[in-house]
Amino acid sequence: MAGGHPRPAAGGGRAVTNDRKTQLAENLARVEECISAACARAGRPRDEVTLIVVTKTYPASDVRLLAELGVRQVAENRDQEAAPKAAECADLPLTWHFVGQLQTNKVRSVAGYAGIVQSVDRVRLVTALSKEAVRAGRELGCLIQVALDAEAGERGERGGVAPDGVGALAEAIAGAEGLRLDGVMTVAPLVGPYAGRELAAFERLMEISSDLRAGHPAATMVSAGMSADLEEAVAAGATHVRVGTAVLGVRPRLR
Ligand SMILES: *Cc1c(COP(=O)(O)O)cnc(C)c1O
Repeated sequence: MAGGHPRPAAGGGRAVTNDRKTQLAENLARVEECISAACARAGRPRDEVTLIVVTKTYPASDVRLLAELGVRQVAENRDQEAAPKAAECADLPLTWHFVGQLQTNKVRSVAGYAGIVQSVDRVRLVTALSKEAVRAGRELGCLIQVALDAEAGERGERGGVAPDGVGALAEAIAGAEGLRLDGVMTVAPLVGPYAGRELAAFERLMEISSDLRAGHPAATMVSAGMSADLEEAVAAGATHVRVGTAVLGVRPRLR
């Protein structure tokens, strides 16, 4: 689709498309078209951008269908929901990304199934993740979540460290046993100077990524963009987009 955001199929159309797997396949195809078109417009090869499907609020049966359709990267934002879902899907070739605000008392559980934690935003969390990764005998990829709406030294409303705190957090992760510094992540802010300016926000994240890579060349991941702003994220240079609604449908507003 040229321009416009990918939207989930309405469902309830022709009887033949009512099947959930067909619906997910159609939605995935639409999102794929959108990512490809955005890459083409940005002059980027399609393989520079990885789709992560955010499966929160949807059942393990959907995750299984997505895996059958070729999805390999999935994301969740609440451990209470993610832990049983990941356990049910343990036989599937999936990498689980944790993208929600993470309390230290959930770290042991998350370290058991997550391949990458995208919401690392404080040293206390680094310490806890390192301890539990070592205990589990696993290496955990970490993205620093940047809050573009936070003032210096603060954390943003939806989690994330202020841009001036990225350097110190990067050193902490790089020096922590069991952890691997993979890059940065952001959620387009709803308030502050970048509210409603998704492209500018993601371009700022790219600058932060570039500064980070100067000292940590392997930290190449830039996770930005959701269903509504994935085109801006691809235009800015994101390597990973996190798409929920456009693949699985509109979530019930229960949290
Ligand atoms: C839910 C969520 C997404 C996906 O959002 P959609 O608008 O449904 O595509 C992406 N990132 C994070 C951190 C989320 O919590």
